[in-house]
Amino acid sequence: MEINENERVRFAPSPTGSLHIGGAHTALFNWLWARHTGGTFILRIEDTDRERSTDEYEQTIMDGMRWMGLDWDEGPDKGGSFGPYRQSKRMDEYLKTADSLVESGQAYRDGEAVIFRVPRGEKIGFDDVIYGEINVASEKASMNTDGTIKDIVMIKSDGMPTYNYAVVIDDHAMEITTVIRGEDHIANTPKQILIYRALGWKEPRFAHLPMILGNDKKKLSKRHGATSVFEYNDMGYLPGAVFNFLALLGWTPGNDIEIFGRELAVEKFQLSKVTKKPAVFDMKKLDFVNQEHLKAMNPADRREVIEPHWKEMGFQTEKFTKKYLEDALTLMGGRGKTTRELAEFSDYFLDFEAVKARYTAGDLTPEHRAVLKKCFGATSEKFSGRDWNAPELERFARGWCEENDVSLKEIAMPFRFALSGRKVSPGVFEIAEILGGDECKRRLAHYGLL
Ligand code: GLU
Repeated sequence: MEINENERVRFAPSPTGSLHIGGAHTALFNWLWARHTGGTFILRIEDTDRERSTDEYEQTIMDGMRWMGLDWDEGPDKGGSFGPYRQSKRMDEYLKTADSLVESGQAYRDGEAVIFRVPRGEKIGFDDVIYGEINVASEKASMNTDGTIKDIVMIKSDGMPTYNYAVVIDDHAMEITTVIRGEDHIANTPKQILIYRALGWKEPRFAHLPMILGNDKKKLSKRHGATSVFEYNDMGYLPGAVFNFLALLGWTPGNDIEIFGRELAVEKFQLSKVTKKPAVFDMKKLDFVNQEHLKAMNPADRREVIEPHWKEMGFQTEKFTKKYLEDALTLMGGRGKTTRELAEFSDYFLDFEAVKARYTAGDLTPEHRAVLKKCFGATSEKFSGRDWNAPELERFARGWCEENDVSLKEIAMPFRFALSGRKVSPGVFEIAEILGGDECKRRLAHYGLL
């Protein structure tokens, strides 16, 4: 760990939409750096676009961050000594500072607007923590499409500050030490540096995060599917897995470690180790990471994330003990890439109706039925109330099959279908143990196999 309690970083979303993948990625990397260094993580709401900004979006962004476990130390809801944390509350300062630049001749008025005069012949350079040295001539910092210099609007004619101007005032006022944000802001950085210089302020360090691409190698956008982090929640992805997966977009803790939790990420995170190589948002990788997190959960936590899906599917989970539900999920042994999928795969533990809807036993010939009835009849007799556990059931079934010259498969497969309605499942005797003797007999009887 490199402790640097003076590190101050910020996530500065515009509340014009919910927390999307790109925003969550930026928030995460800021959070990791703050927590790694023992510094401060600030949430600043950039709401100067009054038409598109809403309180609801501000709330969903905060909820999205909370869902991912990204807590902030200073912010609009939390306060702090560097406020206000909403740009709309800092208007006086934006206007006052703009006036001072007009007075010093570095900016001019055009009607109600205030415009920064881009200086000629200056070299602007910065050493991006991730992208390395970037040098631009001031004439190239802000250009019209035809390549001529374009002075920078600071205050628009409606009196609102522009992003490139307000961000400088805010980052300075909040004593931000490192600006960590998406690579789409690299082109804005020279403009911001010019304003820092004009004001005689020292600029922060800049660290631009790699671009995130979809599987088609095009910049990630709505076309690639779910964009809001809550959509991932609804699809059955765990917050810890999304956290892990997003951290891997541009960074790795090393030693081939791919699956990790918050603590390890905080301990190992290095801003200077983040790569500028575009990172691919690969759903298959997310599935893999999610499945690994699901597997590694303790039974009680796993039950808690699956129960809402079962309820949504119409099952009355309260009819069962916690232990029953947890044992069922443990037996599923890592099946299911998402919580939703795991809930579906394990539906037969919750309600026989799910089985009936899938399986009619129409595949069984009269001869096969006769054999099954004999076997299950003997089983039912042998285990009247006692010893209904997987090893005993299996031992009995094997013995019976041998005696009667029947293959175990002939018994086990229909047994599996009668209990689960599925062709693929965990061991059928283990399923039988968890369901219990009475329930198994009920299911067999329904199919006329007992
Ligand atoms: N509001 C800006 C955005 O969402 C912030 C960029 C920055 O971090 O400077 O892109």
